[in-house]
Amino acid sequence: MNPDTAHLLDIESRSDAFHRRVLDLAAELREDAVPWRQARAGRLLVNLFYEPSTRTRVSFEIAALRLGMRVVNIAAADSSVKKGETLMDTFNTLQAMSPDVVVVRHPDNGALAPLAEAAWPGVHLVNAGDGSRAHPTQALLDALTMRSHFERLDALRVVVAGDLHHSRVTRSGVALMKKLGVGEIRLCAPSGLEAGPRVSEGTRGFDSLDEALDGADVVMMLRIQHERLAGMAVPDGESYHRRWGLTTERLKRAAPGCIVMHPGPMNRGVEIASEVADGPQSVILEQVANGVLTRMAVIHTLLDD
Ligand code: ASP
Repeated sequence: MNPDTAHLLDIESRSDAFHRRVLDLAAELREDAVPWRQARAGRLLVNLFYEPSTRTRVSFEIAALRLGMRVVNIAAADSSVKKGETLMDTFNTLQAMSPDVVVVRHPDNGALAPLAEAAWPGVHLVNAGDGSRAHPTQALLDALTMRSHFERLDALRVVVAGDLHHSRVTRSGVALMKKLGVGEIRLCAPSGLEAGPRVSEGTRGFDSLDEALDGADVVMMLRIQHERLAGMAVPDGESYHRRWGLTTERLKRAAPGCIVMHPGPMNRGVEIASEVADGPQSVILEQVANGVLTRMAVIHTLLDD
C-alpha cells in the first residue's frame, strides 16, 4: 500500500486523478449500484465520532453496508474516551482489531494527521470532519451534485454563503472547486465570519448576499457554527435571516436554473427559509443521497490502493 495515498485526510493532499476517479465511480454507482453490492465483502469499517453527526455517520455506515462490509460505530461519549483515553490510544486499540477503514470525526483541526503517521499497513483513515479544517467527503458529494445538474463546471457561478470562517465545508469545498476548475467561486459572509486568505485566493468576495446571487447557478448556504464561535457575538436568528438568509425573493436574482444546496444541519428561518429549503430549486436531499454514493466510491477507491 502506498502510504501517501492510503488515507483521505483532506482535498489538498490527494491528486486531481483521485478526485476524478471517486466522482466518476460515484456517478457510475448512481446509474447502477447492483454490481458493486459485494465489492468489498468481509471488510470492516469503524466509525469513530467525537462530534455529533446524523448524515455523515449514517452515510458512511450505509455506504459500507452497500459494499458488503461490516460496520462498527463508536460514539466517543459512550467509549473509554470518557475515562480519559487519548485519541491515539483509542485509535491504536481499534487498529489492533484489524479494521480496513477507520472514519474519524474530531473537533480539533488536524487531529487525524498523527493517526495517519501511526496507521498500520492495511488501515485506511477517512476524515469525516476535523474542527474547522477539512471535510473532504462533503466536498466530493457536493461536486457530484453539481456535476449531475450541470455539464460544465467551468461555466458555473457558485455562491458559498454564511459562516465561512469556521466552516470545514467551505475549506474543502472551495479547494475541490478550484481543482475541478469551477468558473467563478463567490464567497459571501458577514463581517468577522469571512474565509481566511488561503481559501479566498482566486475567489470573489461579497458582503451582500443579494449581489452575490446575481446570475448565480449554484448557491450553497451554510449555518453559523455556534460550537466554534468561542464567545464571538453574532446577530440573533431573525436579524441574521433578514440580512443573510436565503429567501424566495432573494433567490429570484440567481439564474433561473440555480440549484440550492446545504450540507445540513439546516437552521430554518436563519440562513435559509423553509420555502427555499423545501422548494423546487432545492437539491438538499439529493446531496444526502449523493453522500452515500460518494462514500461508497471513496471507500472502494482507498481499498484499491
Ligand atoms: N455537517 C457539516 C459538518 O459537519 C456542516 C455543518 O455542521 O454545518 O461540517
